[in-house]
Formats: sequence, C-alpha cells, structure tokens
Amino acid sequence: MIAQQIESAGITGKPKNLEEQAIQLVGTDIYRKLIAGYTQKQWGKPPRELPSFIIRRLPIRFTYDNNYFNHRFQGIPEGGYTPIFQKLLDDDRIDVCLKTDFEAEKAAYLARFPKIIYSGPIDAFFDQRYGPLEYRSLRFETTKHPSPNFQGNPVINYTDEKVPFTRSMEWKHFDKQGESDTTILTKEYPAPFTIGAEPYYPINDEKNNQLYKKYKQLAAKQPQVLFGGRLGSYRYLDMDQIVSEALKLAQKELTAN
Ligand SMILES: Cc1cc2nc3c(=O)[nH]c(=O)nc-3n(C[C@H](O)[C@H](O)[C@H](O)COP(=O)(O)OP(=O)(O)OC[C@H]3O[C@@H](n4cnc5c(N)ncnc54)[C@H](O)[C@@H]3O)c2cc1C
Repeated sequence: MIAQQIESAGITGKPKNLEEQAIQLVGTDIYRKLIAGYTQKQWGKPPRELPSFIIRRLPIRFTYDNNYFNHRFQGIPEGGYTPIFQKLLDDDRIDVCLKTDFEAEKAAYLARFPKIIYSGPIDAFFDQRYGPLEYRSLRFETTKHPSPNFQGNPVINYTDEKVPFTRSMEWKHFDKQGESDTTILTKEYPAPFTIGAEPYYPINDEKNNQLYKKYKQLAAKQPQVLFGGRLGSYRYLDMDQIVSEALKLAQKELTAN
C-alpha cells in the first residue's frame, strides 16, 4: 500500500525535503492526514520547504507501541525536573540571578569569570554580526477547569491545520499528583519568532545551518566561553541528549584542566 503510494507520488531517490521524506516513510494517506497540516502550522512553512531530517527524528512503527521514542527507559523524573535543579543549586556558593539578560551584562561577566557556559542563542552572543539565525517560537495558553479530568491523558496532538494549536497538555496526567477536583490544561500555539520572544526551536534549514557555521567559527576563537544547549549549538536536542552533552562537556573541561 505505502509502496504504491510512494510510486504514484513519483518520489524516487534521496528525499529532497520533508514532504518527500514523509511520503517515503508513511505514504500519501497518512502524510495528508497526520503530517502535512501539522507540519505547516508547527513551522509556518510548507513541508516542501523544510529539510527532510526533521521528520526522521520521529520513529515510525507499524505496531501498537504508542511511545514517542524507542528508548528503553522513558518518562519524566519523579516530581518533574524542579527537584533536580533545586538539589543542584542547593549550595551557598551558587548565586542564581533571575530576570537578568546575559547580553546586557556580557562585558562585565567576561571580565569577571575565567570560564562561562553559555546556553543562550549563539547569534545573540555575537550581536548578530552575520545576521540573525531563524527560530520558531511558541505561545502557551493555560486554563484551569473545575473538573477532576479534562482529556484523560497528558498530551493530545491536533493534526488538522484549521485548529490553531498543535497540542494540549493536561499536566496532572504526567505525574501522580494525587486527587484533585480541578485540572490545568495548556494549549501550545506555534508562533513566529520576534525579538523579545523565546526562541524555542532552531530552524535548521540549509541557509541557517550555513550561517550557524560562521558563528561556530567565531565561538571557536573564544575559549573562555563554552557554547552549549539547544540555542548555543543551534540544534534541536531532547532532554536526555542535553543532559548527556552537558556531562560530556563537563568531563572534557575537567580532564583538560
Ligand atoms: C515545547 C517543547 C516541548 C518539549 N518536549 C520535550 C519532551 O517531551 N522530551 C524531551 O526530551 N525534550 C523536550 N523538549 C526539549 C527540551 O526542552 C530541551 O532539550 C531542553 O530544555 C534544552 O535545554 P537547554 O538548556 O539547551 O535550553 P533551555 O531549556 O531552553 O534553556 C536555555 C535558557 O537560557 C535562557 N536564556 C536565553 N537567552 C538568555 C539571555 N540572553 N540571558 C539570560 N538567559 C537567557 C532561556 O530563557 C532559557 O531558560 C521540548 C522543548 C519544547 C520547546
């Protein structure tokens, strides 16, 4: 069935964009129903204008296993991520400065600290010297409902392009939070990135990747600063990858000094 659909869509050889890649993976029916509209609203661009690797991040299975990833261990830490950070920061020697823009304080930090780990946008660090990298942003709408249960599960994805949000999260289902007569729901709306908005997703198309390479070369000349994380390395990374990269970076630094 899928082979026939790929053939009738006239796709041969290496996929040139997300649309071709998706059709090669799942055929035209599933592509149209689940992927085309969702991708358009998520990225604000037609799937034909997006790189094929975006869709390869998602595992395709022809089984009843409805997990997002194929990892052996999956889930979120008990109590969420907050207790991990509380314990990491529970040390009098660590100052936490909230609501402080790194860029505004950059010169003072560079003069004061011999080593800086920077997880903000790499282009912002260099004052967008070669031009801005593109990002995709999000808007969240959170509502409280007078009911013990709203949608019955943690996440529902809305694949129809006419629905303006991509997914709705009902937080109580992520973790065992005890009984409650109310529930909190968040809808996630994709949004264009504008200065001042949160840059959630790097747009790793050819143009932006080439621009990122130029910033990476600048970063290599600045050994005082270690660029890391999703924005510092201009790559989409999941939590497990972020933690792994942070540990590797720390190990490398500690063994080098
Ligand atoms: C909507 C969404 C859903 C996700 N769901 C999952 C999931 O289900 N599973 C999973 O594994 N991963 C998920 N991820 C990915 C996960 O959130 C990231 O891998 C992780 O947060 C990246 O960590 P980071 O430290 O690189 O960046 P971030 O967590 O984004 O941290 C960077 C921080 O730097 C701050 N910052 C930026 N610029 C400045 C500045 N100039 N001055 C001061 N501070 C600044 C930002 O405000 C931010 O707090 C999701 C991501 C998003 C956006």
